[in-house]
Amino acid sequence: MNQTQLQKLPAVLFEIGKLVGSDLDPGVLLSRISELVCQLIDAQACSVMLLDASRERLLAKAAYGLRADRIHSLSFAMGEGIAGWVALHGDAVLLPDAAQDARFLQLPNSRTPIASLICVPLIARGERVGVVTATSGDKNAFSESDLELVRFIATTIALDIENVRLHRVAVTDPLTGAYNREFLSNKMPTEIDFAVDRGRALSVAMVDVDHFKSVNDQFGHGVGDVVLAEIAGRLRNAIRGGDMLVRYGGEEFLVLLPRAGAERASEVGERIRERVSEGPIDAGNGVGIEVTVSVGVAELRTEPLESMTEFIARADAALYAAKAAGRNRVLIAE
Ligand code: GH3
Ligand code: MG
Ligand code: MG
Repeated sequence: MNQTQLQKLPAVLFEIGKLVGSDLDPGVLLSRISELVCQLIDAQACSVMLLDASRERLLAKAAYGLRADRIHSLSFAMGEGIAGWVALHGDAVLLPDAAQDARFLQLPNSRTPIASLICVPLIARGERVGVVTATSGDKNAFSESDLELVRFIATTIALDIENVRLHRVAVTDPLTGAYNREFLSNKMPTEIDFAVDRGRALSVAMVDVDHFKSVNDQFGHGVGDVVLAEIAGRLRNAIRGGDMLVRYGGEEFLVLLPRAGAERASEVGERIRERVSEGPIDAGNGVGIEVTVSVGVAELRTEPLESMTEFIARADAALYAAKAAGRNRVLIAE
């Protein structure tokens, strides 16, 4: 470790400790950590890649020193390139001259040429969960002590990263990728408090697939599942970043709409209705299935403040009124 690193180290470690203990968005946390790694060991770029659920691919989650569009496309199969090798074997790598190593894969159209690099595994509870890579455009840019520093940082953040992933798995419905009821029962009270404290509106939209039973009856439950997953994708495309899609029941979804009054909520409901019915869903073998949804929306009543159960029940009543009125429509709770 050189003199400058020794001077920077306490501040960097302090900052990492703070970041790990915070409830920052994981993407933001990892970008900040990538930046700190770059500063500490004078790297040109640093990225954090995590294994996907099937543990077959590394996907970049954050980076510093790379273009944003590059980050989203940065990915290696298990065993591919240095990052893939490290993920597969669980050993760290220090490459003084990348061009001389057969494992190294120079990515096409890279604007950040790599001459030397460090890559260390992220290991949590004995499992490999990803890799941290630091690169330089110069040969021999890194020393053994740089490697040890990155390894130390990786060890510090690995458990936190894994906990974030486990939490996400715990609150996500596997078929549709939507949040589950567990998430809703934790999130809703917080959102209600937030709305009341800040005097902001809060709405929900209850969405139920029309005549879904007949999809199952006609095409089988497996096709029904495919259709349901595609409907969830269309719902996600119809809502904004801060809105939350929850699988409320079998073929029933709830969309939580912070900062939306009844009017905006019904616009969202209408967009949802349109997107779902926009075109047939491809169920494989050239089969296209047309589906529609009915939607009931409600805005939180605050004078007097209603309970979460009452709030959802009003949206549900509007949904059933929409069904009774002929389906494929949006109704607002009174
Ligand atoms: P409507 O809501 O328009 O009144 O009619 P529906 O046919 O959609 O209503 P109903 O509640 O009678 O049926 C819902 C169906 O959804 C029945 C059930 O088999 C199906 N379903 C629920 N969850 C799943 C699932 O995860 N996968 C599949 N394939 N089907 C599901
Ligand atoms: Mg239904
Ligand atoms: Mg239903």
